[in-house]
Amino acid sequence: MKFGGTSVADADKIRNVARRIAGARESGDNVVAVVSARGKTTDQLVAAAREISERPDPREMDMLLSTGERISCALMAMALHDLGHGAESFTGSQAGILTDTAHTRAKILDIKADRLRAALDAGSIVLVAGFQGVSTDRNVTTLGRGGSDTTAVALAAALDADVCEIYTDVTGVFTADPRIEPGARKLPLLTHEEMLEMAASGSRVLALRSVEFARNHGVELHVRSSFREEEGTIITQETTAMEKAIVSGIAHRSDEAKITVSGVRDQPGVAAEIMTALADSGINVDTIIQNVSADGVTDLSMTVPLDDLQGALGAIDQLAGQLDYQGVSADDQIGKVTLVGAGMKSNPGIAAKMFRTLAAEGINIQMIDTSTIRITVVIDRREIERAVRALHDAFDLASEAARRADV
Ligand code: ADP
Ligand code: ASP
Ligand code: MG
Repeated sequence: MKFGGTSVADADKIRNVARRIAGARESGDNVVAVVSARGKTTDQLVAAAREISERPDPREMDMLLSTGERISCALMAMALHDLGHGAESFTGSQAGILTDTAHTRAKILDIKADRLRAALDAGSIVLVAGFQGVSTDRNVTTLGRGGSDTTAVALAAALDADVCEIYTDVTGVFTADPRIEPGARKLPLLTHEEMLEMAASGSRVLALRSVEFARNHGVELHVRSSFREEEGTIITQETTAMEKAIVSGIAHRSDEAKITVSGVRDQPGVAAEIMTALADSGINVDTIIQNVSADGVTDLSMTVPLDDLQGALGAIDQLAGQLDYQGVSADDQIGKVTLVGAGMKSNPGIAAKMFRTLAAEGINIQMIDTSTIRITVVIDRREIERAVRALHDAFDLASEAARRADV
């Protein structure tokens, strides 16, 4: 069972979650619960670091950020003690979560869960601080924002859990962010692939890495509410019997920026050189588009995380001596809207309908990027909400029937 930050924000909420955990234990299950930092704690810790230093050392950042979840799980253990249960809290390191050495975005390499197993065997409820581990060189690491989801999925896989439940402040995964589209509908069932595209496209209800982990290890997820007793969304492997939604949901993100390098020579090696420079600076490039060339030169556009924009521009600037280009422009006012659906593969015309809908709203498309089960457009950030609502309406996602693929 994993509980997000808003679910443990204050003392009453911690007691509420403790009752939830106790209930599961009393029904005869062994329980491992992963908890996030309370409320906005992680944001506040990030702000505290920035107040001290412009470029905080990543190792020390992890020492700092990992404390948020440590507080939550110790408090949760106390709340469970008061309910008469044996409970023990563990840091990521104590829980045996071994990661690589990439501070602030570490990847889990292995979990040595013997200590957790021993505590479970002794009848305790086990509480694990989410979002953290210990690196191969024995430093505390964190797993990137939203990383408690990944902790939960990885522990579920390592302990061969019957179920991995992600408790949050919404009742499941919806056809769009319910905070933007009030008519969004809760999806009862999604495949790992669909959720992967939703998460990669900005639906922050599950961290991308956690969904990758679930898919790779065949972990079934149940996303549900911390506050309400109702079935949420099951995310599972695709089976042939499953009906495939043409469009299952709409995701959006507003934390990226666009860079265009114009007038580069259209010859082998140019894209490689630019992407290598960005990769060497640790920048994850998302959408990449190269124009048709004219007179032997072309333009290359790409999107990068907004936080990395200055770093990316710096890296491209460094190339100026060795790479011929006419100019670089940046746009930090973009947003992305994505349609996701496993049934898209076999249904032509979805892109056309998407573009028609945006055109009717007068929304200009700056870039287009697709996979077999996703169509993403880059638009002006201020138009995201309008685009999400128009598309939700055009594809009739509020109605249950729209989910059935009439192929
Ligand atoms: P937690 O703190 O529990 O990890 P998050 O804030 O990380 O919670 O994720 C839950 C939030 O994700 C919701 O409050 C909601 O606004 C947002 N969200 C974005 N897209 C979706 C979606 N398609 N379905 C449900 N929630 C979504
Ligand atoms: N507390 C961390 C964050 O805010 C991890 C998490 O909540 O999953 O990103
Ligand atoms: Mg989260």
